[in-house]
Amino acid sequence: MENCIFCNILAGKIPASKVYEDGEMLVFKDIAPVAKIHLLCIPKEHFKLLSEMDAGRAALVGRMLQTIAEHAPAWGLEGGYRLVVNQGEAAGQTVPHLHIHILGGETLPWG
Ligand code: 5GP
Ligand code: ZN
Repeated sequence: MENCIFCNILAGKIPASKVYEDGEMLVFKDIAPVAKIHLLCIPKEHFKLLSEMDAGRAALVGRMLQTIAEHAPAWGLEGGYRLVVNQGEAAGQTVPHLHIHILGGETLPWG
C-alpha cells in the first residue's frame, strides 16, 4: 500500500526505531509516545480492521499477542502494560494499517 505510513516503514522507506521483527510482524517505537514506553506492533500484511480478519489473520493476530507477552519484560514492561487497538476513525485510528499500541513503563492512568 503506497500511501500507508506503516507499509512504508515495513519497506524501509521511512525510518523507525525497531525493537522486534520476524517474518510476519514488526514492533517499533511510536513517534509520539503517550506513555514512558509506547510501542506499536504491526502485521507485515496490510489490513486495517479486525473485522477484516479471516482465520489466517486471526491466527497471526494471536501470534502478535503471544510475541508481545513473551518479549514485554525485555522491552521494560515487566511491571505490566496496556494494549490498545483503535478501530476506525471515531476511535481515533489515524493509520489504516492494523496496529496494537503497547503502553507502559509507568503506572498508567485509565483513558
Ligand atoms: P492510531 O491513532 O492510528 O491508533 O495510531 C497511530 C500511531 O502511529 C500514533 O500513535 C502515531 O504517533 C504513530 N505514528 C504515526 N506516524 C508514525 C511514524 O512515521 N513513525 C512512527 N514510529 N509512529 C508513527
Ligand atoms: Zn499498510
